[in-house]
Amino acid sequence: MSELVYIGLGANLNNPYDTIRSAITALSTLADCEFVGQSKIYASKPMGPADQPDYVNAVVALKTSLSAHDIFSLTCQLEQAHGRTRNGEHWGPRTLDLDILLYGDNLINDDQLTVPHYGLKEREFVVFPMLDIDPLLVLPCGTALSDIAKTLAFNDMNAI
Ligand code: AMP
Repeated sequence: MSELVYIGLGANLNNPYDTIRSAITALSTLADCEFVGQSKIYASKPMGPADQPDYVNAVVALKTSLSAHDIFSLTCQLEQAHGRTRNGEHWGPRTLDLDILLYGDNLINDDQLTVPHYGLKEREFVVFPMLDIDPLLVLPCGTALSDIAKTLAFNDMNAI
């Protein structure tokens, strides 16, 4: 059984554009995953503390036979391979942040994962890139992602 997984990428330290390119390549060549598509790459303003560099964001879609938790351990390894250290600061600067946005239509809520990702509907740097991949995407709750996009501003984002 394979699932369509959407993974959000964000970085704002140490050549974030190169980091995002490298992480997209790594994700698209994962074993047991088939690359489906990627968004444009965007520059966006930071959420949370404003005294940090702008972010680079993108989204990748993969078809996979791996479980959501298998994907999560792979994304944690990739974060570490790109120099991620966790200093406990919420929404603070980071070399690479990978979020599992959707895992098919599955709802997951446990110690490690909340899927769909809890911030998906409020984050323009997630919603607009997902629409690059599939403009007709419908969330597990039945809402079209394009309807959510109408509630968000595209002001602070530029494709780069
Ligand atoms: P962050 O520091 O923002 O990368 O948050 C990472 C933490 O969020 C990890 O400890 C994960 O267990 C948790 N988490 C919950 N849901 C998700 C998800 N859908 N994708 C990635 N991390 C998640």
